[in-house]
Amino acid sequence: MSSESQDKKSRHKSRMQNRKKIVDEAVSKALEERGIVILYTGDGKGKTTAAMGTVTRALGFGYSTVVTQFIKGTWECGEKNLLMGAAHPLQWHQMGTDFTWETQDFEADKAAAMALWEKAREALRDERVYLVVLDELTYALNYRWLDKEEVVQAIQQRPREQTVVITGRGAKQYLKDVADTVSEMCAEKHAFNTGIAARRGIEW
Ligand code: ATP
Ligand code: MG
Repeated sequence: MSSESQDKKSRHKSRMQNRKKIVDEAVSKALEERGIVILYTGDGKGKTTAAMGTVTRALGFGYSTVVTQFIKGTWECGEKNLLMGAAHPLQWHQMGTDFTWETQDFEADKAAAMALWEKAREALRDERVYLVVLDELTYALNYRWLDKEEVVQAIQQRPREQTVVITGRGAKQYLKDVADTVSEMCAEKHAFNTGIAARRGIEW
């Protein structure tokens, strides 16, 4: 081996040793064991798919999971087709209405959102439920279909071992405050904006 590549190898080794020290130190400090609140927000693609990825993870270990989807009324989605088609400990609840810009009926949408929220609240009280997904919850809050204090309180008072994943654009500061992990999806580019239609199995 040339002295140049030996040099490169030893520089890499020392960088990795430093990295390991930092990671080990951080891991040794993360001692608290509890469920968390994850918030996926922002205008970029990937919020609901990230939530569904987490559902797959939890189900992969046999953990009981409840998915609630605000907004997407009777819409089909690939993850639901797959996961509900097998014997998983999974419940899936949707709003019994169409997209809100299709129904254009505030009272009907509000009633549907409130009925769905009751399902979510039940899950948020249930110690057997390991993971609760509140998909597109931000819209139900921003449209004032739901009472934000009630939602925040239900999330804060959930069982200690339970994790909640919230998705939706335009999350307000009070939701960010309630979350332990916040990821903002940034829309650097989206195919739809160049005239490409949403594809089944990719966009839903
Ligand atoms: P996905 O379900 O693909 O993870 P998302 O949950 O991040 O997307 P939403 O804001 O819920 O995105 O939007 C729902 C639909 O709109 C999805 O089909 C998604 O691909 C699409 N979409 C997401 N971001 C954009 C964007 N910036 N411009 C246009 N369409 C978008
Ligand atoms: Mg979404």
